[in-house]
Parts: sequence; structure tokens; C-alpha cells
Amino acid sequence: MAGQIRFGSTRWARLAVALVNTAPTERHPDLLTSPGRLRDLLLAHDEPQPVEVDDVDLADARAARTDLAAVFAAAGDRERIAERLNDLLARTARPRLVGGGTPLHLHVDAPGSTWGGWLAASGSMALALLVAEHGVDVLARCAAAGCGHAVLRHGPGPTRRYCDSTCASRTRVAAHRANRGPAPRPPVEADRRR
Ligand SMILES: [Zn+2]
Repeated sequence: MAGQIRFGSTRWARLAVALVNTAPTERHPDLLTSPGRLRDLLLAHDEPQPVEVDDVDLADARAARTDLAAVFAAAGDRERIAERLNDLLARTARPRLVGGGTPLHLHVDAPGSTWGGWLAASGSMALALLVAEHGVDVLARCAAAGCGHAVLRHGPGPTRRYCDSTCASRTRVAAHRANRGPAPRPPVEADRRR
């Protein structure tokens, strides 16, 4: 996965999607219920160690999740997506170049932000960049029944409709069943009747 990461905003967008998709759905319960789980999420998206997370970070991350989920909930509605992202950017983002003892790099959140503040700032900035580059259809929701996960639709290949292979295959199976009608009688039973 690391080989595919070309610049910060792609990683931030993936992290924003992963954050939104920790919210409870018909598929799973709430997956962001402790500071440890937030830490795992950050590390799974290549945040460099040390990552220290407390209850305030968790509360702010859950608030960021709600705000970013509202952006995906507006999928397909150009004006509403812009409005929600602009609001989130205005409240959380303060992009600036930072040096110190390292090469210049971009900090996107306000100084002193919690992890939750950073998630809101980096997520809204990354989604805004994607929308500006690819159009609003880049933000979508999983088309599988009972899911509603956030999905990013960009890059080569066919347009993505499902959040993962589980949703794609269970939708295929359901469609196949619906087309076929009631299941045929098992052949063994049919043989016996003859
Ligand atoms: Zn799904």
C-alpha cells in the first residue's frame, strides 16, 4: 500500500474515508470507541510514530467523523458538498509550511490541534483537492443495501460502486438470486420422484 502513496492529500483522503467508515452501520457496530482504536486507525494509515491519543483526541475525532460523514451524505449534490467542505475548512484548516530540522512540509491544521482537529483539517483539505481535480462525483457512498460506507471514486479502471469486495459480492449474489427466482428443487429429490 505504501508504494501507492504519492503525496499527502491522497493519504489524508483515504484516512478520512476510513474514519467515516468507523461509524456504525447495518454491517458493523461503532468501530471508534476508544483512544486505542483511534491510534490503530492513524497507524494503519502511515502516521509516523509516536502516536499518542487521549480521550479528548477521541471525542474530537468522533466530531470530525460526523462532519466528514455529512460531506459524503451530500454525495451528488454539488452545492451542498461545497458548502459543507468550505465550512469545515474554515473551522479547522490553517495550511502552512513548516521547516525546523526537517525538509519543508505542509501542516494543514491550526497549531495545537488535537488529533481530531487534525483529522477534520486534513480530511476536508484532501477531499476539497480531490473534488477540485476530479469533480464532485469523486465522493460517493457504497451502493450495497444496508451499507452506506463512504467511497472515493477516482483513478483508472471502472467507476467504483462498492466500499469493498464483500459489498460487491453480496450485491452480486442478491441480484443473481432475484433474477433466478425461487431455488430449484435439489436434483436428488427430483430423481427419486420419477
Ligand atoms: Zn459497502
